[in-house]
Amino acid sequence: MTTALSLESVTLTYPDGDRALTALDEVSLTVAPGELVAVAGPSGSGKSSLLAVAATLLSPDAGRVVVAGRETTGMSGRDRTALRRERVGIVFQQANLLPSLTAAEQLLAVAHLRGANVREERARAEELLESVGLDAAKRRRRPHQLSGGERQRVNIARALFGGPSVLLVDEPTSALDHERGERVMALLAEVTRTHRTATVLVTHDRGLLGHADRVLTMRDGRLS
Ligand code: ADP
Ligand code: MG
Repeated sequence: MTTALSLESVTLTYPDGDRALTALDEVSLTVAPGELVAVAGPSGSGKSSLLAVAATLLSPDAGRVVVAGRETTGMSGRDRTALRRERVGIVFQQANLLPSLTAAEQLLAVAHLRGANVREERARAEELLESVGLDAAKRRRRPHQLSGGERQRVNIARALFGGPSVLLVDEPTSALDHERGERVMALLAEVTRTHRTATVLVTHDRGLLGHADRVLTMRDGRLS
């Protein structure tokens, strides 16, 4: 079977004056399709760095990163970007939605960039937004007309729109109250099953981990 996502002994350092700061210290992690792995850990422990490496946005100093069965070590920047576009969905803390576009258009803007037929993609965008809980009226709204939880739903739908094998989610509930956070977590568990993504979700909030298949802890760049 193809490995959806695998990190093997990944070490990542950042320059820090004359020295180097070790953000990831021999981190290994394999995630199967349809599995939701949560990584909890305090601020500064390396959670966002882990996602950046898994997303192939940063190359590790050592170790291997396999995305959708492809070994990314030594891949050109262009190939890496293509792999990321086709196979990786990313949900950041802030939704980063375009202010002038409706919810449905946020998804279609991605399709347009990929050169797809926008008309054909519209029905799929509407369907995906419906599946994350946005009714027809909400799908016509712009980001400022939606609540924080609804914006995060659009964000999740946008990440899923390209049919990723890997879904990477960074602190998705940090801007939400507990109840809305809980519902976004339930949604992420649901889309992980229905879209068969290998999902990694990082958070410093341990109270929201009940929906994960596995919970790991990050501390000082080490995963356990
Ligand atoms: P978390 O997401 O758990 O808060 P990060 O992965 O953002 O942790 O950061 C891990 C460590 O790496 C921290 O000590 C942080 O200050 C440092 N760090 C993160 N990004 C950079 C960067 N671009 N340059 C230098 N140091 C960084
Ligand atoms: Mg972070």
